[in-house]
Amino acid sequence: MTTITIVMYHYVRSRERGRYPGLKVRSVEEFEGQLDYIVRHYRVCAMADVVAAVRGREALPANACLLTFDDGFLDHYTTVFPRLVERGLSASFYPPVAAIEGRRVLDTHKIQIILAVTTDHRALAQRLLAMVDEYRHEWALPDAATLRAQHMQSSRFDAPEIVMVKRLLQRGLPDPVRAGLTRRLFEECAGMDEATVAGELYMDLPQLRTMVRQGMEVGGHGAAHVWLDSLAPADQEDEIAQTAAFLQRVHGAPASDWVMCYPFGGYGADTLRLLGPAGCALGLTTRVDVTTDLDSPLELPRLDTNDLPTAGAAPVSAWTLRVGDRLAASGREH
Ligand SMILES: [Zn+2]
Repeated sequence: MTTITIVMYHYVRSRERGRYPGLKVRSVEEFEGQLDYIVRHYRVCAMADVVAAVRGREALPANACLLTFDDGFLDHYTTVFPRLVERGLSASFYPPVAAIEGRRVLDTHKIQIILAVTTDHRALAQRLLAMVDEYRHEWALPDAATLRAQHMQSSRFDAPEIVMVKRLLQRGLPDPVRAGLTRRLFEECAGMDEATVAGELYMDLPQLRTMVRQGMEVGGHGAAHVWLDSLAPADQEDEIAQTAAFLQRVHGAPASDWVMCYPFGGYGADTLRLLGPAGCALGLTTRVDVTTDLDSPLELPRLDTNDLPTAGAAPVSAWTLRVGDRLAASGREH
């Protein structure tokens, strides 16, 4: 049986230092501990090995593991990359085009920053509902009590006010309204212009090219970082084409057998149909599981870094239990 454990990372940085101490991050010490743990228990492979296995060209080793880093954060270049090189490990990086070349802060990161710098989340939720009032008539939006009832829910990870702010700004309001509100709150909270924040937050093309030269894989994470399954097929096709064109600029050659890491884990039947002809070989989801076969190479599950131990001697069965717990839980957010 082929077993592949694919681990997903986002921020890897100091939890206390830096501009946004409230961000949910994997600390540098935890990351190093987890790398040691992974090296002890797994064989870290390159994504090219999985492509070769899917194409029947080679078999994967027992306990294969892949390290994947989403969203193009500068952390990945400054903190992750040297630690991988030091250990002789290969990994995969999935930057969205808008972050790297557009130098725009993705809405999902604006929302994270808004929540990280805010100490009073109840006041933030009230302020957001008051701002929604300005759009209510034009967009025929539900009143504040209805929005509260719909979106103020508790979750395993966040307080109800935080859940509501996230849900309203992510998908709970019409696109122009939620984008406008996110921009206004971000400008208030960030205290600096978006391009400056983007410069601090994301890698650039030369950095990606440096990592590729050092044996790292750079794959696709969409252009605008949106839920692909929320788009019409023609718009999905456009996102996929922009992603492939970006990878060509990164690699200096047309992209073939590339990997699509679905933003927010969102994809549908149309996405799967469109990816093959665009030269995509593998798809990474956010479904929490260990891969036990390669029958659906465009729908590979991943574990979050939080599903694995960050320190030494825990036996493999310890995380198996934790994954089982995660699988049983619903309402996981990304
Ligand atoms: Zn992402």
